[in-house]
Amino acid sequence: MEGLKRVPVREQAPKVRAANFEEVCLGYNQEEAVEEAKRCLQCKKPFCVQGCPVAIDIPGFIGKVVEGDFAAAYQILSDSSSLPAVCGRVCPQESQCEGKCIRGKKGDPVSIGKLERFVADWAKENGIKPKKADKQNGKKVAVIGSGPAGLSCAGDLAKWGYDVTIFEALHEPGGVLTYGIPEFRLPKDAVVKPEVENVKSLGVKLETDVIIGKSVTIDELFDEEGFSAVFVGSGAGLPMFMGIPGENANGVFSANEYLTRSNLMKARLDDYATPMPVSKKAVIVGGGNVAMDAARTALRLGAESHIVYRRSEAELPARAEEVHHAKEEGVIFDLLTNPVEILTDDKGWVRGIRCIRMELGEPDASGRRRPVAIEGSEFEIEADAVIMSLGTSPNPLISSTTAGLDVNKRKCIVAEAETGKTSKEGVYAGGDAVTGAATVILAMEAGRAGAKGIHEFLSK
Ligand SMILES: Cc1cc2nc3c(=O)[nH]c(=O)nc-3n(C[C@H](O)[C@H](O)[C@H](O)COP(=O)(O)OP(=O)(O)OC[C@H]3O[C@@H](n4cnc5c(N)ncnc54)[C@H](O)[C@@H]3O)c2cc1C
Repeated sequence: MEGLKRVPVREQAPKVRAANFEEVCLGYNQEEAVEEAKRCLQCKKPFCVQGCPVAIDIPGFIGKVVEGDFAAAYQILSDSSSLPAVCGRVCPQESQCEGKCIRGKKGDPVSIGKLERFVADWAKENGIKPKKADKQNGKKVAVIGSGPAGLSCAGDLAKWGYDVTIFEALHEPGGVLTYGIPEFRLPKDAVVKPEVENVKSLGVKLETDVIIGKSVTIDELFDEEGFSAVFVGSGAGLPMFMGIPGENANGVFSANEYLTRSNLMKARLDDYATPMPVSKKAVIVGGGNVAMDAARTALRLGAESHIVYRRSEAELPARAEEVHHAKEEGVIFDLLTNPVEILTDDKGWVRGIRCIRMELGEPDASGRRRPVAIEGSEFEIEADAVIMSLGTSPNPLISSTTAGLDVNKRKCIVAEAETGKTSKEGVYAGGDAVTGAATVILAMEAGRAGAKGIHEFLSK
C-alpha cells in the first residue's frame, strides 16, 4: 500500500564508518525530505505533538516542508526548540513523536526526526536565524551550565527580552552535546556550535571557564553581580563506579572521562596531545546509550571493543538503533556477564577483568528480571582498558555552596516540574541536575519550564 514505508535515509557503510569519526547518518536531501513529508497525514488531533516534550507543531513544520518553504518550517521549529539540528539527531523519537504517529499503526511512522534535522541543517546552510526579541526589559538572569537545559532556558528568556548570561565551567559550551556524545552521532563544528551560536544570536552572553560554587557563588551572583534570578542547569556529570577490587588501576576510565578525552580534548585526532590509553582490547561495563558511545569510540580508536552487561539483550537500556549500529560496526556483546574484579599487572595497569556468568531470576522493583550470579562460573577476559558506564549523578558543588537549596538523597536539586522553582527564592533548576541522567529533550523541556517560572517570578 502507498506510503507504508518511509523514505530510507542514507548512512555510511558499517565497515567504512567503523574506522572514522564522520557522522554515521547522512540525512535527507531536499527531494527525499519533501517525499517523506508528504507521508504526514496532517492529523487534526496530532498525537505526535503530544509525544514531543517541547510540543513542536509537527504537522505545521512538515506541511511547510511539503510546500518547499523550508524557512517557514524552521521558524515553526525554533518557536519551540532552541536545538532542532541536535534533537533531529539524538532524540529517542521512536518512543516520543514517532511512537505516536498514526502512520505507525499500519506501516512506518513518518521520519519526524530526520525531517527536523533536514530543516535545521537547511536553515544553517542558508543563514536563517531564530527571531530576536523586539526590545529588552533590562532584567538580568544567570544561567548555570550550557547544556540543553541551560541553552533552552537562555534562548526562551532572551526571546522575551531578558539580559541573559550563561556561565559554563568548561572551556567549550554545549554540555554533554560537546563533551559526551561522539562526533559520529553529533558533529560539533557542523551541528552543535552553530546551534549554540543561534542561541547567542538572540543576545545571550556566554562566559566559559567559570565554575559556579568555586569562581563565584549563586549568592554572589544575586548580591554582587546584579542578577535577579538564576537557572541551574548543571547536569549530572559525576560518574558511578561498581566498588570492585582493581577499579583504581591505570587504564580504568569512567565513560564520561573516556568520551571527554576523545570529544572535547580531541584525543581522537593525531595532532592533539591529549593522552589516551593505547588499547588493543577495551571492555565497556554497562548497557546504556553511553556504553554504546564508549564502545563505538574505542572501536574507532582501533580496539577490539566488548560490551559487558549483566542482563540479556532484551533488557539493554540503550536505544535499539544504537545497539544495531554498534553490532553492525563490530562491537562484541558479552551479555549475562558481570565483572567481579579488575586484574592488574605488576605496574598497576589493567590486564583484564574477572567476570561471573549470570542468569535471569524473578522481576525486581524496576520490573526487569533480576540478574543472579551462577556459582562457580567465573572467567577472565583479557583487556588493557576498562570503561565503566554505570550512570552518573549531579555534582554536589552547587548545592553544597548554596544555602537554602534543597537536594534529595541522590543529590538532585529539588524543583517543581512545571516551573523549575526550587526551595531558594529566585533560583530555578532543571535538566539532569534535577532528574539525574535523562535525555536532551527532557532537559530542554525543563529549561523551557524554568524560563517560564523565571518570567512569572520577575513579572510580579
Ligand atoms: C555519552 C552520552 C550520550 C548521550 N546520548 C544521548 C542521546 O543520544 N539522546 C538523548 O536524548 N540524550 C543522550 N544523553 C543524555 C543527554 O545528553 C543529557 O540528558 C543532557 O545533556 C542533559 O542536559 P543538561 O543541560 O541537564 O546537562 P549537561 O548536558 O550535562 O550540561 C550541564 C553543563 O553544566 C556545566 N556545569 C556543571 N557544573 C557547573 C558549575 N558548577 N558551574 C558552571 N557550569 C557547570 C557542565 O560543564 C555542562 O556543560 C547522553 C548522555 C551521555 C553522557
